[in-house]
Amino acid sequence: MEKETFDAIVIGAGHNGMALSTYLGKSGWRVLVVERRLEEGGGLSTEHYTRPGFLHNLHSNYHTFVGLCPVYDDLELIGEDGVSYVQPPVQMGSIYEDGTALTIHTDMEKTHASMSRFSTKDADTFMRLYKEVKGFQDLMISTLMYAPPIDVNDITRALSTWKLEQRTEFFRAQLRGMSINDFLNKHFENEKIKAMLAFHAGVCGYYTDLVGLAISFPFMLGKIDNWQISLGGSHRLAHVLWRQMRRNNVTLLPASPVEKILVEGGQAKGVLLTDGREYYADKLVASSVDLNQTFNKFLSPEDVPEETQKIVSEYKYQDGSLFSVHLALHKIPTYKAASFDPDINKAWVLNIGYESLADFENDWKAIRNNQPPEHPRLNVAVNSMFDPTDAPDDKATGLIRVFAPYEIGEQGSGGWESIKDVYMHRCIRKWQEYCEDFTYDDILQAKPYTPLDISSKLTNMVRGDWMVGQIADNNLLSNRPDAKMSQYRTPVKGLYLCGSCTHPHGFITFGPGYNALQVIADDFDLEKWWVDI
Ligand SMILES: Cc1cc2nc3c(=O)[nH]c(=O)nc-3n(C[C@H](O)[C@H](O)[C@H](O)COP(=O)(O)OP(=O)(O)OC[C@H]3O[C@@H](n4cnc5c(N)ncnc54)[C@H](O)[C@@H]3O)c2cc1C
Repeated sequence: MEKETFDAIVIGAGHNGMALSTYLGKSGWRVLVVERRLEEGGGLSTEHYTRPGFLHNLHSNYHTFVGLCPVYDDLELIGEDGVSYVQPPVQMGSIYEDGTALTIHTDMEKTHASMSRFSTKDADTFMRLYKEVKGFQDLMISTLMYAPPIDVNDITRALSTWKLEQRTEFFRAQLRGMSINDFLNKHFENEKIKAMLAFHAGVCGYYTDLVGLAISFPFMLGKIDNWQISLGGSHRLAHVLWRQMRRNNVTLLPASPVEKILVEGGQAKGVLLTDGREYYADKLVASSVDLNQTFNKFLSPEDVPEETQKIVSEYKYQDGSLFSVHLALHKIPTYKAASFDPDINKAWVLNIGYESLADFENDWKAIRNNQPPEHPRLNVAVNSMFDPTDAPDDKATGLIRVFAPYEIGEQGSGGWESIKDVYMHRCIRKWQEYCEDFTYDDILQAKPYTPLDISSKLTNMVRGDWMVGQIADNNLLSNRPDAKMSQYRTPVKGLYLCGSCTHPHGFITFGPGYNALQVIADDFDLEKWWVDI
């Protein structure tokens, strides 16, 4: 039987596991990464899902912390032989039933002008809030995002001591008692503007009716103009990470699911793979997968304190998942609403169907009742508008996403198999209603990707939970995944968490992996060669 020893073993080659291992490799450690799937990247997945030549991002499509996250520079991920990102000038758009449209631009004056057509008061409020966030975005990024989380009560106390609460309403403790809906209702009067901003929160994975989530709204507003597309597909970032791993003495074993974490004398010492191979780690094992696999599957009950077992068994997942339709298209659709705002034809992240906060309430209710929203409201993107390499000449690649339940009524998640085609066509027809002359003749192929497909492909996304644990007031910052494990250490000596069940949460941010690195560096006296942000 094969037996090899490394300094560290990382479980899972999603972007968090890949980044953490590269930092450690660059620090001189010998690192092994074991990945269940044949392909590295996890949420960075791009496939010829419909037809050869059409690149479909099966998981993450919209990347957002590019240019703000330190990992891109530290690990030299951007550049000539790295990832190239494009930030579409018309970032987002909403198309409404009455033929009007609202557009969010990288040029905020244009955003203001678009909003002003619905409400000048709201447009002014939006600009005031946006500018406020930008004023302290760097502070928030370095203290709240790319650092092990601090207690939210300490943050509130410090802000009031420094009298910062008076400088901006975003620092006020009362946000902790408000939902995003409450926040929007308090500040804005126009339903369409509220729907646009709530849609942005939904794309970020936030349920707009959960009390306490208003606290995160500043962050979201501050990056409403920072959606970026990875040229050649999101998987390109995984390729570049893999190359940097190799350059830095990191070994990646694909198709190597972990069966057990080996524990000796209360200390994590290595991993046993499902095919019987064993690998050992002198210093640590870091798990980037979900809590359930890490503690209930990989570890024996005698190695996990009862308190931790309880936390894991009670851990909550997002109320719903995502249903996607991937399309190979003959042409890029244009919209009837272009007669109101021509820029809608250039918008990347599109809301088609959410007209008011009530629409979100209805969808969240259906999802919590295990019913796919009867009239799907869509999130649509045609990446080929910005990335000509993602489809053959003169063709285009399209994506529709819908917030959806993991289970279908009594049938459970398997119910998706029987309804996925019908639901896909419902989504396509909804899209067509808003387009100018866009028929089934313009579609070469369409293929659904269900919440069940998500959890089958990425077993760490339990219940198709793309955030790897609920985003809720009691599961954020120093409470994620619980107060004791929020600093990336676990009750098992030498075992760390570095995936999205930890702060900040899912999304392609590198936050969990980067923050776990800071703690590991402290524990092992590693020289912090990376940029101190
Ligand atoms: C449909 C969908 C759409 C999304 N859209 C966006 C978006 O637009 N923008 C965005 O930023 N994010 C998006 N996300 C979320 C994003 O993909 C995830 O939050 C992110 O990938 C989590 O990163 P991670 O490194 O923590 O985990 P992952 O990327 O999930 O990586 C974990 C890795 O661990 C591996 N693994 C699991 N079990 C084992 C095991 N037993 N042994 C070894 N390896 C194992 C998995 O195969 C996987 O490769 C989307 C996700 C989905 C599913």
